[in-house]
Amino acid sequence: MKLILATGNKGKVREFREILEPLGYEIVPQSELGLKLDVEETGETFEENAFLKASAVMSTTGCAAVADDSGLCVDALDGAPGVHSARYGGGKAWTDQQKYGYLLQQLEGVSDRRARFVSAIVCLFPDGSRITVRGECPGRILTAAAGAAGFGYDPVFAPDGYDMSFGQLGPEVKNKLSHRARALAALREKLEERMRSC
Ligand code: IMP
Repeated sequence: MKLILATGNKGKVREFREILEPLGYEIVPQSELGLKLDVEETGETFEENAFLKASAVMSTTGCAAVADDSGLCVDALDGAPGVHSARYGGGKAWTDQQKYGYLLQQLEGVSDRRARFVSAIVCLFPDGSRITVRGECPGRILTAAAGAAGFGYDPVFAPDGYDMSFGQLGPEVKNKLSHRARALAALREKLEERMRSC
């Protein structure tokens, strides 16, 4: 099955492909169709924003579209940066390093380092049906960045059960237990249920 992925984030494209393509799904990033949709993420939840992104692609292409909205929720910051993770600190113009550097500054001297990554995935179909799933990955924010694998906040986040960051653990570990891996496993189940009922 072919799914158009509503994102310009190369890290997300890579992880969708690594996880879904071995299962027989073809992931076509919107950029391959020449689409440059800059959807305003006005939702208050990850699910609302994922819906906005998938919906923009489906209404432009008429094909099934899938979108992920994700972010990092830090307990000591009352859930920030949360849905604003891509715009944290100085906004979208900031590099990933600047954003996680700013996060480390906010947490200087803070002993409660608990945090979780969240991914909401919405898949929309031309017949009007919709699948919504969520995956979460609990862990903690390290005191310094480590490792260069992955993207975004990966160098400063260690998942529960590990002393290393996602940036150090790399895709083999991350793709088994990340928020996105969990949301994609739930999506796969729902897609299979949908195929069975056809
Ligand atoms: P959005 O879903 O496009 O609004 O962006 C989510 C932002 O959250 C990304 O730009 C990253 O900064 C962060 N993020 C989401 N998922 C991950 C991940 O798997 N690793 C590291 N950072 C992530």
